[in-house]
Amino acid sequence: MPGKSDDNFKKHFERQRDKKDRDRKGLPGEDEAPLPPPVEPIKKGGDEPGRNDPCPCGSGKKYKQCCLLK
Ligand SMILES: [Zn+2]
Repeated sequence: MPGKSDDNFKKHFERQRDKKDRDRKGLPGEDEAPLPPPVEPIKKGGDEPGRNDPCPCGSGKKYKQCCLLK
């Protein structure tokens, strides 16, 4: 039965290709790319400093020129 073995042959190759695809997708560092360092969230509340006020971090710069940009 040449047809059957041909089928098996195809299946064998398909399976190999599937595995390769899976291997490629499963590469560490692609799916699990390191997250960017957390950015300090800017509080949006009543106690938010004004953009022209001195930065609360104590740098002496204006808030808009300091932590507001971060
Ligand atoms: Zn600051």
